[in-house]
Parts: sequence; structure tokens; C-alpha cells
Amino acid sequence: MQSHAKVVVVGGGCVGAAILFGLTENGCSDAVLIERSQLTAGSTWHAAGLLVTFVRSHVISQMTMETIRIYGEVERRLGTSCGLRKVGQLRVANTQKRWDEFQSYFGIAEAAGVPARLLTPE
Ligand SMILES: Cc1cc2nc3c(=O)[nH]c(=O)nc-3n(C[C@H](O)[C@H](O)[C@H](O)COP(=O)(O)OP(=O)(O)OC[C@H]3O[C@@H](n4cnc5c(N)ncnc54)[C@H](O)[C@@H]3O)c2cc1C
Repeated sequence: MQSHAKVVVVGGGCVGAAILFGLTENGCSDAVLIERSQLTAGSTWHAAGLLVTFVRSHVISQMTMETIRIYGEVERRLGTSCGLRKVGQLRVANTQKRWDEFQSYFGIAEAAGVPARLLTPE
């Protein structure tokens, strides 16, 4: 194994792997990832894999949208599926508080370019 690198990424979970991917995509060829166990051995192994496209944080929403774009690009390059499925989501408000909260999401969804609608039982 090489003993020196310009960039050393510690941890091969989804964050470390994404950082390494981003580095190499942006022209950094002298980067190495060190994993103490095996790739995705940590929390990433347990994740349900949900990519929630809009939350209260606009920055997180944007990151998720970018992640979806990257997965699509990876699938295109590999010519095979990495399991990405764009399925949308349904959230149920069973209290007035939740209903108010969902209404507050609309500006965020709009800014993130995510189509969203409020439905009533009618
Ligand atoms: C049950 C569950 C369900 C989840 N579902 C979702 C979901 O649906 N959607 C979502 O977005 N998030 C979900 N999450 C959260 C998500 O899994 C984590 O936020 C994410 O995996 C964190 O990634 P990470 O790369 O930071 O950490 P990790 O995946 O934990 O990776 C850290 C890596 O670093 C390695 N490491 C640690 N110390 C060292 C060291 N000293 N030297 C070398 N390597 C080291 C570990 O072995 C590990 O592989 C879920 C989490 C859990 C537990």
C-alpha cells in the first residue's frame, strides 16, 4: 500500500466514499481511502437507503437532489442499476401541528424543485 497521498480519507462509509468520488471527479488523482473493516461496514450498512428530497434545511435538500443526480450518472456510466428508484413519498398528518408543519415545507419543496401537493381526505 502507498505510504503517502495528498488526501487521505478515513472511513469507507457513504460519506467517505462520496468524498473520494468527489475528489477524483474534480481532478484529484492522489487520494486514498482507508477503511478499518470493510466498505460500508458502519452505519451505511444499516441505512434504509431513503433519499428524502425536502426537509427543513434547504442545504440538505440540495445535497439530496445532487446525490440523486450522481446516482443516476453512476448508473449511466456503469450501464447497470445501482438500485436507485425514484418513488416519491406520502406523509400523513394526523394532527393539526403536523398539518401546519407540512404546509411550511412548501416553500422548501418549491425552492428544491420538488413537486409537492397537500391532499385532504376529500
Ligand atoms: C437503521 C438505520 C437506518 C438509516 N436509514 C437511513 C436512510 O434511509 N436514509 C439516510 O439518508 N440515512 C439513513 N441512516 C443514516 C445513515 O446510515 C448515516 O447517516 C450514514 O451511513 C453515515 O455515513 P458515514 O460514512 O458518515 O458513517 P459510516 O457508514 O458509519 O462509515 C464510517 C466508516 O468509518 C470506518 N472507520 C471508523 N473509524 C475508523 C478508523 N479509525 N480508521 C479507518 N476506518 C474507520 C468504519 O468502519 C465505517 O466503515 C440510517 C441509519 C441507520 C442506523
